[in-house]
Amino acid sequence: METGDAGEKRTESLLVDRVPVRRLAVALTFDDGPDPAYTPEIADILRRNGGRATFFVIGQELERSADIARMLHEEGHELGNHTQTHASLTALTEAERRAELESADRLLEALTGRRPRLFRPPYLAIDAETARTGEAMGYRAVGAANLKAEDWRMPGTAHILEHTRSEVRPGSILIFHDGLGDRSQTVEAVSVLVPELRKQGYELVTVSRLLEMAEQGL
Ligand SMILES: [Zn+2]
Repeated sequence: METGDAGEKRTESLLVDRVPVRRLAVALTFDDGPDPAYTPEIADILRRNGGRATFFVIGQELERSADIARMLHEEGHELGNHTQTHASLTALTEAERRAELESADRLLEALTGRRPRLFRPPYLAIDAETARTGEAMGYRAVGAANLKAEDWRMPGTAHILEHTRSEVRPGSILIFHDGLGDRSQTVEAVSVLVPELRKQGYELVTVSRLLEMAEQGL
């Protein structure tokens, strides 16, 4: 199953890819989990290096792996909405779109005690109507700066690293995938990237924290 998030329907201005911050900070994001094998490996890397990330989880996967989602929440990571079934939202009616977001929203609220603030549309497929649906639910729609890394298609660890490093600067939101397939290359790339960024002095923060830093002029 192809789970690529570099869809052609992407409309850049509707998604936040990068925000202006002064401090050395980036936000790593992981889509399509939680996954029983790969998500804990990613969490281990972040724990060892002192970093936080945002996990855009699929409602159906969350139902299967609630314990892993709970661990992520308890360790200070952010959980975002990646719809209930990984549907392409622009292909749905307004009612269907809302149902996709609301189902995952309810699961996340039950798990964390608060409503998620962020969503990432599957395949990054977004249009004005989808953006309005998200906004009406209080969501910010999140894109990413390193779309050429395309970790979801297993292009090799070197490719993932090259096309991510070139997009690293203060305020970048970086996309990876921890579920719906073999994510071993992603884990390998992240195991190199995370200590490298920390050595360069980067803070690895959640997307909500990065947005807050930008608002506060940090
Ligand atoms: Zn996805």
